[in-house]
Amino acid sequence: MTDRYAVIGNPIHQSKSPLIHGMYAQATGQDIDYTTIEGPPGGFAGAVDAFRAAGGRGLNITAPFKLDAFAYATERSERAQLAGAANAMKFDGERVLAENFDGVGLVRDVVHNLNTPLKGKRVLLLGAGGAARGALLPFLEQQPAELVIANRSLDKALELARIGAASGAGVVRGCAYQDLAGQTFDVVFNATSASLRAELPPVPASVFAPGCLAYELAYGKGLTPFLRLAQNAGVRQLADGVGMLAEQAAEAFEWWRGVRPDTRAVIEKLTIPLV
Ligand code: NDP
Repeated sequence: MTDRYAVIGNPIHQSKSPLIHGMYAQATGQDIDYTTIEGPPGGFAGAVDAFRAAGGRGLNITAPFKLDAFAYATERSERAQLAGAANAMKFDGERVLAENFDGVGLVRDVVHNLNTPLKGKRVLLLGAGGAARGALLPFLEQQPAELVIANRSLDKALELARIGAASGAGVVRGCAYQDLAGQTFDVVFNATSASLRAELPPVPASVFAPGCLAYELAYGKGLTPFLRLAQNAGVRQLADGVGMLAEQAAEAFEWWRGVRPDTRAVIEKLTIPLV
């Protein structure tokens, strides 16, 4: 019988996950059926119960259900626990395993696809929401010289920095945007959701060191205000989150199916020029 998977979110019509997993299944010869589920507001658990009862084997989870998925699970990976959110689930009888591949997908894109090691680098992370939380541990595992987290709500940046420091994995500190004046970084990640509304987080244009990579986690938006700021500041290496999207999906696919798909064809298909 064909194994069933899906992505659940609301809205869900815009999701690229069916296309991505369809390409991975074809390339690896895996017989799967992958659909979308528009989860009703407040009705996440009921929708997942119904999917499992119909034989569903696993789910990707997107906004606004990543916290619901975390709560629904019976077992949570360390990455999911740190993020307090899940973006993938696997069903095994009564067991519901929760994972969070957003951060590891981001790091894989930066280190492998963009050939930018984070080891020894000064890294700036803008934002302290779900995506930033998911990236924290995978970033620190790369042993940057320093990880600075800046957020509009300072308390969230300080809290993330505290969690990072407690993991003992490296030098991490939280700050407000105005504290970034006079500091430069080798890699700057925009993990705020400002770009989804064509807004710019209040980051000074002076943060980009020569040779810097500016990485926008949002994807499919072209040159966002953040990427434009970086470009105007002289940054030549610009990237959006399409590679992160493809890599987190590949992690989930391998977790479910035991085979790692090559992400290049998906990235090529989904990439739109940053202009
Ligand atoms: P959350 O809602 O969890 O967090 C939003 C963050 O953005 C908060 O830190 C918030 O600050 C900050 N923020 C929002 N608006 C502004 C603004 N105008 N100025 C400054 N800061 C702002 O979102 P997520 O973490 O889930 O998503 C963040 C981004 O990552 C989105 O663009 C999303 O599309 C992208 N993403 C990409 C993925 C991929 O596969 N490529 C996967 C997951 C996310 P405050 O705390 O002060 O409110």
